[in-house]
Amino acid sequence: MDLLSINNWGVSKNGQPLGIMGPCSAETEVQMLSTAKELVHKNVHIFRAGVWKPRTRPNSFEGVGEIGLQWLSEVKKQTGMLVATEVASAEHVRLALKYDIDVLWIGARTSVNPFAVQEIADALYGRDKIVLVKNPINPDLELWIGALERINQAGIKKLGAIHRGFSTYEKLNFRNAPKWQIPIELKRRYPDLPIICDPSHIGGSRELIYDISQTALNLEMDGLMIESHIDPDCALSDAKQQVTPEVAKKITEQLLLRNHQLNDSKQINQLNNLRQQIDELDHQLISVFSQRMDRVKDIGELKKEGNVAVLQTDRWNDIITDRVNSGAGKGLSDIFIRKIFEAIHQESINKQNVIVK
Ligand code: PEP
Ligand code: MN
Repeated sequence: MDLLSINNWGVSKNGQPLGIMGPCSAETEVQMLSTAKELVHKNVHIFRAGVWKPRTRPNSFEGVGEIGLQWLSEVKKQTGMLVATEVASAEHVRLALKYDIDVLWIGARTSVNPFAVQEIADALYGRDKIVLVKNPINPDLELWIGALERINQAGIKKLGAIHRGFSTYEKLNFRNAPKWQIPIELKRRYPDLPIICDPSHIGGSRELIYDISQTALNLEMDGLMIESHIDPDCALSDAKQQVTPEVAKKITEQLLLRNHQLNDSKQINQLNNLRQQIDELDHQLISVFSQRMDRVKDIGELKKEGNVAVLQTDRWNDIITDRVNSGAGKGLSDIFIRKIFEAIHQESINKQNVIVK
């Protein structure tokens, strides 16, 4: 992808993370202007508001439509902030361009759909706009990258990704599971692509915004999109996860910005030494995995001779219970041990399936 960093977007942020704030939905002109005026602050660079809302169930508030774009223009005129809204179709793009909205974002329910993303890309062809692509609701990095590529191929270089978490069937602490490894992998593959974290949609509750935002900054994400409403409890959508402009300001002031690297030479030496130890330990792990797989293969031969099923549920049950207990005694979390041993067990089954064929 041929990308410009935030520094070339025409947004001056003076070393701060990029701040995109504003209500989930545009509701009234008064709500928009009063929220926006209180958000004018050094940590806020772009004002957001959705005017077409993709609601899970019908008969919910589905946004005010075109008139909300007029209110966004008014916000821009009165505050000087850049303004952003969500687009989900070519018609939305046409209207957003008509009102000269500066930043368009593609929502999570749209980035799952290549037809819709392509339609948006075609409608945007050659325009000089900042376009942000939220992750698709399912944890599929390729689909997220595909959506970014479609927009990029329309000649849009002021491109960014928004990490807003992923839907899960189980109810977690989070509204949308962050699955941090996915944006980390996106950053590894596209180091120049700005990634903005949306702690409001990840957390689903205002109490979680600070911690999620700090985690995002610990991972050197480039900005934060935080939903802020002048009267959050009365918001027509996403009331629980919105904060007043005052709280949004406090949150951003309390966040710690991390340095990219250590500066002190003594600390750099210590870091290098510890990393060397990690490298050695990782190679030991690989060697132990390989020894373990040799035993697995021997057991596979026995299972073949005896024509015994590869999966032995009782044994697997004993293993996972024992390893989780043993890990707990060494301060390793249940979830971590389960993930590791499930992966090892799956690999063992794959190896034995080949042998018993
Ligand atoms: C939003 O930003 O208000 C929104 C609808 O978000 P998402 O697409 O992440 O659900
Ligand atoms: Mn919302």
